[in-house]
Amino acid sequence: MAYKFVDNYRERGARKQLVETIKKKGIADERVLKAIGKVPRHFFFDETFWNQAYKDIAFPIGEGQTISQPYTVAYQTELLHIKKGDKVLEIGTGSGYQACILLELGADVYTIERQEKLYERTIQVLPYMGYKPHFFLGDGSKGIREHAPYDKIIVTAGAPTVPEELLKQLTVGGILVIPVGNAETQKMVTILKTGENDFEKHVLDTFRFVPLVGDKAW
Ligand code: SAM
Repeated sequence: MAYKFVDNYRERGARKQLVETIKKKGIADERVLKAIGKVPRHFFFDETFWNQAYKDIAFPIGEGQTISQPYTVAYQTELLHIKKGDKVLEIGTGSGYQACILLELGADVYTIERQEKLYERTIQVLPYMGYKPHFFLGDGSKGIREHAPYDKIIVTAGAPTVPEELLKQLTVGGILVIPVGNAETQKMVTILKTGENDFEKHVLDTFRFVPLVGDKAW
């Protein structure tokens, strides 16, 4: 498959502007900002829509799904406190953009998507761009038990509740970041696993995600 991957001064300039925009909105972690400034988000768009790629908005990627808003990607990433070498499970690969940001931060990324067409696209596009997470096709609401435990788990779709199985698949000291709520809006929830059966939960800002669909979800 031939992809048109050109990163010229216009796109690089727009990306710099995007970094300034999300910084103003409250993202302070310099490493996260650097990753947003590095990953060419327009590569995840059809060339016709490149002019939309560096606006701070979510955008359709087909199959009724979206590439998340850059601010949301940065917000969730910041909450994960990624350390180099962290084993991270991402539920909802979508376009693959969030996975690239996590890889830029030095994480070892396991990413799962339930929509076959999106999965097929990312397994080609990301390695072509030089990003190599471990790809999985299936229902991530149950996590991926074979590869657990994970230092961090990020869910990029809105869940009705926190799936128990995800908490089991975290290491002690690990962090889960998951939007939880109804079909309309969700609160960002972070859960720190402080002991085998002990957790510290924080409920943060309101977002609007596509639904997490699966056995332990909608
Ligand atoms: N991280 C994505 C990105 O950077 O483009 C955002 C993707 S979108 C907001 C959420 C994705 O979660 C969709 O692609 C959707 O198909 C996927 N999804 C929903 N339920 C899922 C499940 N149970 N397991 C895996 N993926 C799921």
